Amino acid sequence: MPDPDSIRISANLETVHAQIASAAARAHRDPKDVTLVAVSKTWPVDLVRLAVEAGQTVFGENKVQEGEAKAPLLPSHLDWHHIGNLQKNKVRKALAIFSTIHGVDSLDLARQMDRIAAEEGLEPAVYLQVNLAREASKHGFTDEDLCRDFPALLELGRLRIQGLMIIPPFTEDPEATRPMFAALRAFRDDLVDRFSVPLPELSMGMSHDYTIAVEEGATLVRVGSAIFGSRG
Ligand SMILES: *Cc1c(COP(=O)(O)O)cnc(C)c1O
Repeated sequence: MPDPDSIRISANLETVHAQIASAAARAHRDPKDVTLVAVSKTWPVDLVRLAVEAGQTVFGENKVQEGEAKAPLLPSHLDWHHIGNLQKNKVRKALAIFSTIHGVDSLDLARQMDRIAAEEGLEPAVYLQVNLAREASKHGFTDEDLCRDFPALLELGRLRIQGLMIIPPFTEDPEATRPMFAALRAFRDDLVDRFSVPLPELSMGMSHDYTIAVEEGATLVRVGSAIFGSRG
């Protein structure tokens, strides 16, 4: 008998890929330009392994310790992304595991990361987290702060700044988030014009709104519960 978890997870992955493909088609985009980051936070390594067996290679965790515990138990070809808030005192440990850091939310954190990356001989991919809704409870640069800090960020030679990331305010109706995704893309286009740098990537969209994010230009979607199940 095949393991029911295995059947469920590979079916879920297939559904998510199909949804990404149809959202991309609606926006006249190539689905290959969208990377699925499977958010495995809180799920045990055995469940993550089932996703690996179904072909998934990119995983997201929001706690350094959890990444440290899981990554060594899984195949070494996997690509681990840190997706949430990262404390400055965890940067060294984070860079040892994660190729990509999605929540770079201040110049201070970026400087710390650059310094440690230089010491460790690393060049992490980073996404700058933007708090467009200016929610007090959320991390991220405001658009004004990012414009002010951008020249200083560009001087951090060890960081490969890929683009922007957003965690929008939660709304029951995912359509309500569409303007926020569109605004992140427009802000990215602004930065590209003003600073003449490529910022090809947009990390936006989670289980309940990733299809809308893809329609609005997401190049990475961070999807957990639609693959693994509700975290309860
Ligand atoms: C947990 C988490 C996700 C995935 O959320 P789901 O609703 O389970 O898809 C995406 N991004 C971040 C930053 C998260 O913390």
